[in-house]
Amino acid sequence: MNRDGNAHNLRLVSTKGRTTGDAGTPFDALAFVQSLSASLELGTVLARLQEHLHAQIHHSGWFFILQESDETWSGGDEDRHRIEYGMSLNGETLGSLILMRGRRFTDDEQQLTEALLGLAAPALANALRFQRLNESLEMDELTGLGNRRAFEKQGARWLADCRRQNRPMSVLAIDLDHFKQINDDFGHSVGDDILRLVAKTLRNTTRESDLCVRMGGEEFLALLPGADLSRAMECAERIRLAIASLRSSATAGDASPLESDGSVKVTASIGVAGIGQKTTLQSAYQAADEALYAAKQAGRNRVLAGN
Ligand code: GH3
Ligand code: MG
Ligand code: MG
Repeated sequence: MNRDGNAHNLRLVSTKGRTTGDAGTPFDALAFVQSLSASLELGTVLARLQEHLHAQIHHSGWFFILQESDETWSGGDEDRHRIEYGMSLNGETLGSLILMRGRRFTDDEQQLTEALLGLAAPALANALRFQRLNESLEMDELTGLGNRRAFEKQGARWLADCRRQNRPMSVLAIDLDHFKQINDDFGHSVGDDILRLVAKTLRNTTRESDLCVRMGGEEFLALLPGADLSRAMECAERIRLAIASLRSSATAGDASPLESDGSVKVTASIGVAGIGQKTTLQSAYQAADEALYAAKQAGRNRVLAGN
């Protein structure tokens, strides 16, 4: 079912702005809309929506699925009777809401739910826009990895988690070797291809729970929650080898390729630092960066640990 979410055409709202749900709980449409639109945070908007829906139809559990990313929010307990609403507002897809409970939903309850979702749609649309905006502010456009801002925001959260759980955490500072030369020899677009390939390699050689970001230029960083220094060194070595085996093809018109088969190679130097109980994210990054500098001095294409 597709909702157009027009909040002004609801049979539900009486002239006094108040009506009564099946369960007899008085419903205040204005308070409902105000409570939802008081936050731009998607999780909070969904939680408030559930509270209000629950007061009316007493469902046992719910899912909200964002089609664009398959991200799912859920709460309560699953049960066999389900109703699903594909929500959209003015042609913009918002997501699917699934409500569940042990007995079937009556027609009146379904109508009431539809009406409430219509009222909720603008607040949900705003929260989704806010979420997309935040995501775009934390994403590097060229590679799709996180950017420096993502590192600072997520890193601080993850560090606090690791401290609470008494788990180690490590950081890798990764810099491509002689990258300026690659740009000079093959052109900027080949350089960009290599940056995208390196980003993909970082994703493939780390865990999903790790954070890989492009700090700027040809500098990347990986944050490994749960990894002590020796595990982080192993991971860094895996990354170094994977980058060294990358091949990007130089297109016709490029200046003399370095490799006889016409492909372009790249290597990386990596500095590694463990984040102890007292280290800050910033000082660990600095230690990894110093180790990276030492790796460059020692001849590049190598991994070194910081202090
Ligand atoms: P080193 O081994 O000492 O790190 O040498 P390097 O040449 O990699 O380091 P340097 O800092 O001298 O040069 C970095 C180069 O990265 C300069 C710039 O042309 C290139 N670069 C930075 N950002 C981008 C980008 O977005 N795309 C491309 N293609 N190149 C970039
Ligand atoms: Mg470099
Ligand atoms: Mg650099």
